[in-house]
Parts: sequence; structure tokens; C-alpha cells
Amino acid sequence: MSGMTYKIDRFGKVYLVGAGPGDPELLTLRAVRVLASADFVLHDALVSTEVLAMASAHATLEDVGKRCGERRMRQEEIHARMIELALAGFVVVRLQGGDPAIFGRAGEEIAALERAGVDWEIIPGITAASAAAAAVGMSLTDRRAAGRLIFLAGHRADDAAGAEIPAPPAGGATVAMYMPSSSYAEIAGRFLESGWRGEAPCILVSEASTPRQRVAQSTIGSLAECERLPSPAILIVGETARASDVVRGEIEVEAAARLSFATPV
Ligand code: SAH
Repeated sequence: MSGMTYKIDRFGKVYLVGAGPGDPELLTLRAVRVLASADFVLHDALVSTEVLAMASAHATLEDVGKRCGERRMRQEEIHARMIELALAGFVVVRLQGGDPAIFGRAGEEIAALERAGVDWEIIPGITAASAAAAAVGMSLTDRRAAGRLIFLAGHRADDAAGAEIPAPPAGGATVAMYMPSSSYAEIAGRFLESGWRGEAPCILVSEASTPRQRVAQSTIGSLAECERLPSPAILIVGETARASDVVRGEIEVEAAARLSFATPV
């Protein structure tokens, strides 16, 4: 067969799909359509059962992010599985919480798929910071309070220290810290060391967009005393998170914070 090239239509495709923060209504229409035609859904532990229920009845669901003592698939094994299934002609959905391109594995996975010559597509999802902002009724980039929005990882499994927290810039900034460490005192200490004031407002949102959503409001100076919220939770810091007319502590989902602003320093 030398000199001949084939296009084999049977080749499958891998869709890197954002599952959003939990509420299935926050999936994109494209994510819903692709889930409905999937042969295999390789999902992370974070993906809600309500979102998984959107997968086609014939789809095989594989949890590739098992936690709690169960063996977790190594990233290379996930790559190998996606490639194997796509080359066998299946429609594969690689489903990750939030947006797959934000603190997800999309970069590594695309590189592996490219190397294997497998077709792929990213379907973006609503990231946790957006879901948290919606939960409390705040604008992450309210121009009266923040000229910048900084996404950073509090800590990662492979990087215990986490990202460095930048000093608060002139014009103000909102910091959305994903994967905040379980020690709020440690987080507060890192913000203070980086030049943030103890009065800097912050909001924690746990399980945003789900019926289990919880919100706590505090300041960097008193974050250490704040009740620990269950995982997954995101921390939002900055003047945009000021909600002076909400009683400090937990607020209900329905009682979205009304915001008032101090002039950024
Ligand atoms: N790709 C995801 C982030 C994965 S990192 C996204 O775009 O949202 C995992 C972290 O995301 C968690 O530790 C938590 O900080 C945050 N997170 C994910 N889902 C969340 C939710 N429903 N509520 C609050 N935080 C969430």
C-alpha cells in the first residue's frame, strides 16, 4: 500500500468538556449535546452526579479521579485511555469540573492527543470563580474596586507551596484562589506577607451552584477564625468582595450580598 494515504472515518474524537461548577443548568448547550452522544465519559471526582446524568444512556462512565484512599489513575494512564478509545472509533468526553483550561489538565492532555494524532476539541465551562461571584452577587472586576482579576492556585498536590500571592496593585485587584489550603490562618498569613491589609474583604464559597452551596464572609485579618467550609471551596479576596450589609459569617444562597465599596488603596 505504499504511497497511499487513508482517511479513516472511524477514528473517534476526544472532547475536553467543562462540566461547570455543579448545576447541570450551567453546562453549555454544546456540552449537553456532546454528552448525549458520548460512548465514554472519563470524568474527574469533582463532577457532580447531576451533570453525569446528562450523559447518554449507552455511555460508559469512568471515574479517572477517584479519591478518598482509592487508587487514582495517573495522568499518563488517563492519556493512554483517551487515546485507546478514540483510536478505536469512540466519541470520548473528558469531563472536568469548571473549565478544563483553568487549573485542569487540558494542556497536558492536548499535548498527548496531538502526539497520538487524535482529533480533539475543548468545550469551555463555567469556572468556579464565576459561579462563586454569581452566588454572592458580586462583579469580579467591578471597575470601582478592581482593575485586575488574578486566578491562582492556593496549593496543588504536586506543589505544596502554591502560587506566590502578588502584592495588591494600584487600582485594586480581585484574587480568586482555587484550591485554598485547609489552613485559613496559613492563607491569611501569605496575603499579609504580600502586603494585603488585614481589613481586605474576602468571601469563601463552597460547592457553588449546588444545593449544598455555602458562603462565608470575612476579612484577611479574621479569616483564621472563620468556620472551615467543605471542599471544593474557592476564596475571593479584594474590595470587590466587600459586602458591608451582610452579617458576617454564613449567608444563605438567596441572600445574595449587596455590595458597597471602599476606594481601593
Ligand atoms: N477547572 C476547575 C478548577 C479545578 S481546581 C474550574 O474551572 O473551576 C479545583 C478547585 O476548583 C477546588 O479546589 C475549588 O477551589 C474550585 N472549585 C471547583 N468547583 C467548585 C465549586 N462548585 N464551588 C467552589 N469551588 C469550586
